[in-house]
Amino acid sequence: MALTYADVSRLFQVKPGRKFSLKHHDPGWAGGGEFKELRTQELKARATEFLQKNIGELAAAQELLYASDVHSVLIVLQAMDAAGKDGTIKHVMSGVNPQGCQVFSFKKPSDEELDHNFLWRYMKALPERGRIGIFNRSYYEDVLVVRVHPEILTHQRLPPGERGAKFWNARFDDINRFERHLARNGTLILKFFLHLSKKEQKKRFMARLDEEEKHWKFSFADLKEREFWDDYQSAFADMLRNTSTRWAPWWVIPADHKFITRALVAGIATASIKQLGLKRPSVTAEQRRLLARARRQLGGGK
Ligand code: AMP
Ligand code: MG
Repeated sequence: MALTYADVSRLFQVKPGRKFSLKHHDPGWAGGGEFKELRTQELKARATEFLQKNIGELAAAQELLYASDVHSVLIVLQAMDAAGKDGTIKHVMSGVNPQGCQVFSFKKPSDEELDHNFLWRYMKALPERGRIGIFNRSYYEDVLVVRVHPEILTHQRLPPGERGAKFWNARFDDINRFERHLARNGTLILKFFLHLSKKEQKKRFMARLDEEEKHWKFSFADLKEREFWDDYQSAFADMLRNTSTRWAPWWVIPADHKFITRALVAGIATASIKQLGLKRPSVTAEQRRLLARARRQLGGGK
C-alpha cells in the first residue's frame, strides 16, 4: 500500500482533545482513494505484500529495541468478539524473535486479582525494557465489559459511591495517568481498536457454526454479548474519546477485512518503533581495546 504514515495517522488516529464519533470510521474501509479502482484480489495482494515487508522490518526494529535496552513497547488490542485480535497477533508478530516478545490474554479476573486495584494485574504483566508486550484485552475491559455490565463492579468491592459518569471519568483519568507514567519511563504505547461491523460479526459467527473446523471457536458467551452491541459501541466511543492522549493515542483500525487490519497494525507498529530513532549501543575506545585483545586471545591476529 502506498499510504504514508501521515495519511494513516489522519485516517485512523483518534486525535486527543478533539470531538470523536465512531460513525466517521468505516469498519469496511478497504483502501479508499487510488485503491478504490483495484479489484479485491489485487488489493489483498498489495496489503499482503505490505504486511510481509513490515513483518521483516518489525523484527529488525525489535532487535534494535533489545540492543539499545531503553524502551519497551506495549501493544494494546481491544475489540468486539471475532474482530480478529488473535489473527492479528499471529500474523503481525510472526517474524519477531519469540524471546523479544510476550503476549498476555486477559480473562475474567481471579479472586486474587479482584482483591487488588483494577490496574494491578496489568501492571504485573508489562513488558520489560527491550521487549514488545501485547495485551490481548487489557485494563480497558474495566471501562468496557464492566461498564456494559455494571453488576461486575460489585465483585470489585469498591468504596461506596455513585457509579455514574463521574465514576467512569475517574477511571479514564486513572488510565491516562497510568499510561503517562509508563510513557515517561520509556514505554511506547500503541493502542488498537479493531473496528468490526455488526454485519461482519454475524458472518464470522455463522462461519463458526457452519464450518466444522471452526466449531471450536464458537462461544455462546460471545452470542450473548452481541445482544449488547449498542451498549458496547457507546462504551467504546466514550473510551476512545477520553483516553486518546498525546502520549498514548488510540488507533481505530477497520476490521471487516482481515488483510487490511493486519497490514495497518503492522505498518503503524513498525513506523512507531522506528520513530524512536533507536541506535545500536556505541562501543567505547576502552571496549574496542578489550575486543581487540579478545580477538588476539582467540588467535585471530592483529
Ligand atoms: P476471551 O478473550 O474470548 O477468552 O474472553 C475473555 C472474557 O473475559 C471476555 O468476556 C471479557 O469481557 C472478560 N474480561 C476480560 N477482562 C475483564 C475484566 N477486567 N473484568 C471482567 N471481565 C473481563
Ligand atoms: Mg471470546
